[in-house]
Amino acid sequence: MTQRPNQDWTTEHSNQLYGVDRWSNDYFGLNSNGLVTARTLNAEVPLMDIVKGMAERDLQMPVVLRIENILDAQLFRLNEAFRTAIEGSGYQGVYRGVYPIKVNQQAQVVEEIAAFGARYQHGFEVGSKPEMIAALATLEDTGSLIICNGYKDQEFFDLGLNAIKLGFKCFFVIETPAELPILIERSRILGVKPSIGVRVKMTTQVSGHWNSTSGDRSVFGLTTNQLIHVVDTLKQEEMLDCLQLLHCHLGSQIPNIRDIRNGIVEACRYYTDLVNEGAALSHIDLGGGLAVDYTGSRGNDEQSRNYSLEEYCLDLVETIKNTLDISQIPHPTIVTESGRATVAYSSVLLFNILDINHFEPSEITVATAKEPIQLQELRAVLEDLKPGHEQECFNDAHYFRNEVRELFKRGQVSLRNRATADNLFLAILHQIADMVDDMEQVPTELEGLKLSLADIYYGNFSLFQSLPDIWAIDQLFPIMPIHRLEEEPTRQAVLADITCDCDGKIDRFINPQQGYNKTLPLHPMSEGEEYYLGVFLVGAYQETLGDLHNLFGDTNVVSVRINRDGSFDFVKEIHGDTIADVLTYVEYQPKELQLRYRNTAENAVREGRITARERQQIMQTFNASLQGYTYYEKEDN
Ligand SMILES: *Cc1c(COP(=O)(O)O)cnc(C)c1O
Repeated sequence: MTQRPNQDWTTEHSNQLYGVDRWSNDYFGLNSNGLVTARTLNAEVPLMDIVKGMAERDLQMPVVLRIENILDAQLFRLNEAFRTAIEGSGYQGVYRGVYPIKVNQQAQVVEEIAAFGARYQHGFEVGSKPEMIAALATLEDTGSLIICNGYKDQEFFDLGLNAIKLGFKCFFVIETPAELPILIERSRILGVKPSIGVRVKMTTQVSGHWNSTSGDRSVFGLTTNQLIHVVDTLKQEEMLDCLQLLHCHLGSQIPNIRDIRNGIVEACRYYTDLVNEGAALSHIDLGGGLAVDYTGSRGNDEQSRNYSLEEYCLDLVETIKNTLDISQIPHPTIVTESGRATVAYSSVLLFNILDINHFEPSEITVATAKEPIQLQELRAVLEDLKPGHEQECFNDAHYFRNEVRELFKRGQVSLRNRATADNLFLAILHQIADMVDDMEQVPTELEGLKLSLADIYYGNFSLFQSLPDIWAIDQLFPIMPIHRLEEEPTRQAVLADITCDCDGKIDRFINPQQGYNKTLPLHPMSEGEEYYLGVFLVGAYQETLGDLHNLFGDTNVVSVRINRDGSFDFVKEIHGDTIADVLTYVEYQPKELQLRYRNTAENAVREGRITARERQQIMQTFNASLQGYTYYEKEDN
């Protein structure tokens, strides 16, 4: 039943099939050798070359590959798009971006953003003391902004007030009324004039997964009455000139530009009236929300977006300008806190396929002389299958297959005959599944047929560790083989990870046209050759949300930089957790484990079950395992 690959297949067909040009933002493409390439600086590097370099350095799969240039390019595009929009529309203020550390807190990523963002004074948004400390010690230019969100205690404020003494541009965003007295007191004691922001609750509702960050019941931000109270308190304390920033955050991954525009209009109304109240506002911070088109469908569904980066920037700039111009209010510095769109593209999860489970009929054996009648009937169904009779044949096949199973239970059909019946049944289903493609109206019973016959490809990764949002919120990411793309992928598959959890599977894949597909086209495995898949756009939110399901730990991480001449450097490599590491996270002590196992082995020596030399080997294996990778390792290393 294995379909022959189409000889006319080209990489362009693969490009269409997996939608590469639609979701890759020009950072990935296919070359004529059927390889996925990373593209920056007009140079192109096949991911397989990088994989080869990993193998040479004993970095085993799975690996998170970070491509520095892509992060650099995204910061460039974001800042340039705002600059262009500001110049084009005659806006009088400037743009200052900040990166929200929570989106990917890995030191490597934060350090790269500080370095690449320095030329735009790209700053950080922090929501906790640990993030604040990371920001303070990483920022290269004190002119970059630090926006402090979240619930802040005295220590948090002190960190920020001291930073202001050092010259940092640090804004404290008041999220709850309780914060204000602490800030006022600490700034008096430390003798620092603070820059204060207020976070307002937006009534604008946005669609998408994360819409609960807006609206009256949002847990974040001040109500209008609390806002008035903040203004009055600052007035009383003669500190209203410290109120310099208005903050709002409508949510993440906002698919519809019209929702964003509505939100800005509302924010500008707050801005206007706070200025009229006497606040010295100079910054408007519109939070995150700039979406990533994961499916490449350019629609306003949850996993996509119906606007381009340029359109987003222009809409922000023009809406603020038009709204504030009505009241003749000077144009503020525009701040955004784009996290997802900044880091999503630069990371790819790479893994190899370990095994495949096929649900394929084997060769149909010829009928024996005294075959049960039900088997003969199944053979007839298979032979007579033709378009227009799919449902009927499907029903007949089920009926006779079930009959055979009943007879088997009663001892009236042999195991061999039952195996033949199961095989015939599977052959019939496969043929019907092929015919379903050409049907205009697919009966409901036949809809799930393809999925029930799909192969299961077992991948060397943990969904819970590396792709938590697939499990938690049905997020879609582009997934595809990174090689052999000049060859038609003739199999339809779902993916399973190596945790022993039935939720550790992927059975929803992007469909660049609409909705999603339940299976992913893949190639059959070639003897003696590894088959590698990439999960793209995983730089945002996946790395630290992951958990230790089955104690699979952090994966290896490799950072590469692509050079203009098409060569590339391994800039950094971080080995993933060892088995000892993950055991320590759950409070085991590796030394203690070794000791206990050695006692068990020593007892076995005493009882004569193993020799002392065997004990040594057994302990060596145990100790080496403790230092090993938690994922499936190939023996030749
Ligand atoms: C999470 C968050 C962001 C980041 O949003 P993205 O949609 O990832 O850009 C920005 N600001 C605040 C306050 C957040 O909580």
